[in-house]
Amino acid sequence: MSQDASRDAFYRHVAQTSDAPLGLEITGADGVFLRTRDGREIIDFISGIAVSSLGHGHPEVVRAVQEQAARHMHVMVYGELIQRPQSSLAARLASLLPETLDRIYFVNSGTEANEAALKLAKKHTGRHRFVAFRDGYHGDTQGSLSVTGRDVYRTPYEPLLPGVDFCSFNDPAVMELITDEVAAVIMEPIQSEGGIIPADPAWLAGIRERCTETGSLLIFDEIQSGFGRTGRLFAFEHYGVVPDILTMAKAMGGGMPLGALASSTRIFRAFMYDPPLNHVTTFGGHPVSCAAADAALHVLLRDGLMERAANIEQTARKILKGRGIVEVRGMGAMLGLQLADADITRKTVAYCLKEHSILLGWTLHSDTLVRLAPPLVIDDDLLEQTLIKIRDAVAMQGRS
Ligand code: PMP
Repeated sequence: MSQDASRDAFYRHVAQTSDAPLGLEITGADGVFLRTRDGREIIDFISGIAVSSLGHGHPEVVRAVQEQAARHMHVMVYGELIQRPQSSLAARLASLLPETLDRIYFVNSGTEANEAALKLAKKHTGRHRFVAFRDGYHGDTQGSLSVTGRDVYRTPYEPLLPGVDFCSFNDPAVMELITDEVAAVIMEPIQSEGGIIPADPAWLAGIRERCTETGSLLIFDEIQSGFGRTGRLFAFEHYGVVPDILTMAKAMGGGMPLGALASSTRIFRAFMYDPPLNHVTTFGGHPVSCAAADAALHVLLRDGLMERAANIEQTARKILKGRGIVEVRGMGAMLGLQLADADITRKTVAYCLKEHSILLGWTLHSDTLVRLAPPLVIDDDLLEQTLIKIRDAVAMQGRS
């Protein structure tokens, strides 16, 4: 198909999610850059939204994909056959996680990981209530949407799951909502779409304690914050607070679709018995995705990319100061640039793309925050130059 035909078919036949898609015509992507039909090299400063932490098309990930595709692709629904890419990845992850998170259930996406986590919590506890947070984001399928805390996205799909109580993030009032009727508390240790808001450490420790007291499970959604983005493999490590179930996806697959939940053998028994096969997936843990993820995790650790995330934060905090910038929030390379209003935010994002070929975005639940999530492999010079351009762009929009 020609490029013109592709463009035409995109607008005619690919289902759209808004009436204003970016519509850049991608012809390639490598490292930090997206390449477009008109010859532009666009700096992907959001990593496809926290996916391409290793940059696009990392050669070791590409090789793992090619080799596994040649060996075998899908063979049987998840959980029946022993497939080396799954086993290897599960063992590697278990060796990096606390010992209570030593089993991994593979799925295809973030929202599926959360769906599975919610079901697992219900079946394990025999309860059906959940506690979740305003402006939290957990995905767009019905279970995940039921615990997502933004009315504008929920209302059109109601009724959703019953029995979900919402609390403001970092609000101590949550402790009263966590009772012995609650199956689980589901939360992001750093709210992502809500505007890159880290949890207060004492508050998070308090939630852990209250969950343990009431027998409610604590689910951390680290779909966006995981795999080194915040400077540690998972953000919960900054807090020393261990969840009962950890969900992950996005950067996990090194660019391939993959998600997972980690929990204990004891909790995962709920999926094995009464009846057996009560939660299954055809494509979850696809061998090609798992091979890619195993290679990506190996590179992340070997190349010290988590430490790199911490450097990115330091550089960003040093440069992003001055006119129009209200605050820089977040951890590592999961940062948000808080601006004064939605108009300046929209203009800054548009200006950076048009004039500087820097791809930025806002977050789903905040229109006054510019999302900054560069690939962890970005080099110092490009990082600094890009941040300076963003800073100056903010100052310029503020003036007009
Ligand atoms: N949780 C969080 C924190 C996310 O950022 C996302 C994706 N933006 C999801 C869940 C849903 O993941 P997916 O799009 O893979 O279903």
